[in-house]
Amino acid sequence: MNKENNQPEVVKEDTIVSLDYTLKVDGEVVDTSEGNEPIQFIQGRGQIIPGLESELNGMAVGDSKEVVVPPSRGYGDVDEKAFANIPRKEFPSNIPLEKDIKLQLRDDEGNILDAYIVNVKEKSVRLNFNHPLAGKDLHFDVTVVDLREATEEELDHGHVHDPEHQH
Ligand code: ZN
Repeated sequence: MNKENNQPEVVKEDTIVSLDYTLKVDGEVVDTSEGNEPIQFIQGRGQIIPGLESELNGMAVGDSKEVVVPPSRGYGDVDEKAFANIPRKEFPSNIPLEKDIKLQLRDDEGNILDAYIVNVKEKSVRLNFNHPLAGKDLHFDVTVVDLREATEEELDHGHVHDPEHQH
């Protein structure tokens, strides 16, 4: 058996995984690597959602799998407290106030928060601060494109290095 390149045979902790994926929610494609490079990540570091990561262990290069991730292992349930009614006059007039538009707001500590407009009333705007995929079952179709061992440096930094652009 030729093991000279030391390629891991299957996905396991600290393997660098290159993964093609398509994510469907309610039957619609919401994200895909098709037409792009596969995503790369260090397995076991929580760099992808936990419900998908745990299903990848043991997969070999070329293996495909369909994985359904419930909200509890994906983006969480919808938090009914993560909605807010903001007076319309607090929005600058150049911001289009329409349903589903994504806004970025700064909280009191200076953190940037993403919010989606739920509806626009005469005097107020209702915002949803939940992740847009909260409460959704996530249907992934994944294919393992490549596997390699992480380098010491990658494990140290906690991210994948592009061999041509070290940092
Ligand atoms: Zn680095």
